[in-house]
Amino acid sequence: MPELPEVETTLRGIAPHTLNRKVSNVIIRQSQLRWAIPDNFVELINQRELMGITRRGKYLLFEFLHGFALIHLGMSGSLRIVDSVTPHNTHDHFDWVFDEITLRYHDPRRFGCLLWIEGKPHEHKLLAKLGPEPLTDEFNADYLFKRTRKRSQAIKQFIMDSHVVVGVGNIYANESLFMSRIKPIRKAGSLSRKNCEDLVRDIKFVLARSIEQGGTTLRDFVGGDGKPGYFKQQLLVYGRGGDKCTECEKALKEIRMMDRTTVYCVSCQK
Ligand SMILES: [Zn+2]
Repeated sequence: MPELPEVETTLRGIAPHTLNRKVSNVIIRQSQLRWAIPDNFVELINQRELMGITRRGKYLLFEFLHGFALIHLGMSGSLRIVDSVTPHNTHDHFDWVFDEITLRYHDPRRFGCLLWIEGKPHEHKLLAKLGPEPLTDEFNADYLFKRTRKRSQAIKQFIMDSHVVVGVGNIYANESLFMSRIKPIRKAGSLSRKNCEDLVRDIKFVLARSIEQGGTTLRDFVGGDGKPGYFKQQLLVYGRGGDKCTECEKALKEIRMMDRTTVYCVSCQK
């Protein structure tokens, strides 16, 4: 599943090819995504200049003079730059053509979306209630400490809630909790201020490192090989249940929480 670092890398990969350019054609092959693409979408952006691309959580916002196109990659979506002569494949649901290059959306499971927003995008119902961006100063120890008070929910579930903070997917939650030595099943409200400082720092670290590594796979994103370049991660716990803890060499424990794989060290994480 594309996570925040993949979405950020997608933005950085496609922006140099598309920004400040006019859309010369729009092709929609399948409009039934998670929500239907608006019927008039082609007319909305055809022959218009793309003026900006920003990210909010895992949403990409494409700014035009009269509104914003909003794209979410869902469970299996990807956006790539291809030569406009490249034949489309199954699951290539829409193209935005910019003369010789094309921004192509591929999504086998069709949980992504393409919507149109007039007015202020951050007031749109999908974006209005999102928590702060994890890599901004708005997400800090004070904030996490205050938000966790009296909360009995498990800390892992808590930090994965996009109303609390956006973009902390399952892998990043597992990894940052291990680095902070906090047990994923612990009640959020039991975290000390020091725990919150550590966890905020480590969430920022794992996300920033992943975005940095994404830079090295950028070619996969913009290339025409049809495979989204989801990152190979250097992971300490995720996917390593039963293996030795890198700190104490005890076997890592794997459990299911909220139907998500959760791996931690019973000895290092308190
Ligand atoms: Zn350990």
